[in-house]
Amino acid sequence: MIEICEVGPRDGLQNECKIVPTAQKVELIKKLIEAGIRNIEAVSFVNPKVVPPMADAEEVLKSLPKRDDVRFGGLVLSRSGLERALKTDVDFLHVVTTTSDSFNLRNAKRTVDQAVGELSLVIKEGAGSGKGVAGVLGTAFGCPFEGKVPLENVLKVAEKFLEAGCTEITLADTTGMANPNQVQEVVNSFLDTFGKDLSLGLHFHNTRGLGLANVLAGYQAGVRRFDSSIAGLGGCPFAPKAVGNVCTEDMINMFHGMGIDTGTDLTSILETAKWMETVMERPLDGMLMKAGIA
Ligand code: ZN
Repeated sequence: MIEICEVGPRDGLQNECKIVPTAQKVELIKKLIEAGIRNIEAVSFVNPKVVPPMADAEEVLKSLPKRDDVRFGGLVLSRSGLERALKTDVDFLHVVTTTSDSFNLRNAKRTVDQAVGELSLVIKEGAGSGKGVAGVLGTAFGCPFEGKVPLENVLKVAEKFLEAGCTEITLADTTGMANPNQVQEVVNSFLDTFGKDLSLGLHFHNTRGLGLANVLAGYQAGVRRFDSSIAGLGGCPFAPKAVGNVCTEDMINMFHGMGIDTGTDLTSILETAKWMETVMERPLDGMLMKAGIA
């Protein structure tokens, strides 16, 4: 059984030019739940001035159905994000840092060590307040400024995050640099270092067309949780080099074709993807929408 973490409402919409109104975000999330998705990265607690599409995190969460079998996650990048998150009933904090100093200095104005120091306190406090806490490690498969990111650096950040209280780790290929051999190598190292019981997820972007190939490599290496985005949201045509996440319905179609359960209804997911195209008012990247289910 595959666990899908749907990140369209957060990673997808954050990288679209069109700002989607709160009511339509909520409608999207409800449709995803109806189709069987149980883990949704719904919001981001980032500075609304820096990321305007995510400014309505609190409103979105207030409007979502409360269900014991559905988990809503929110991105947290700093102490101020934590303070906002703790005032909501978000279930899981997705605490993020990248693992490359150059990338982190440009995006968060601090080195990885500085970020890990601050975020370890955020993780402790979040876990102590009864929230689930997942650690998300960006640029885990390469950095557009530094090139290769040494695996020992990624492992070191994961170790600190797990020590601080994260119960799961997601490795993110922020700018789509991973290849399938590398995915196998990185996953093997993680499972060797932290044990087979580590709850490990993978987050790929389709930047260089390798999203599904990397998902498959991760599956074959033993990973059972994958982030993806409905209709492949996230590739605003006016933002150079922005390419969306692995597409949810394309990934589900691959797994179902291989006889692997995802707990979701593909027909209903496909309808949601097509609806999303009408919301975004542009063709989206998903392939299954174009070809149909065989
Ligand atoms: Zn991403």
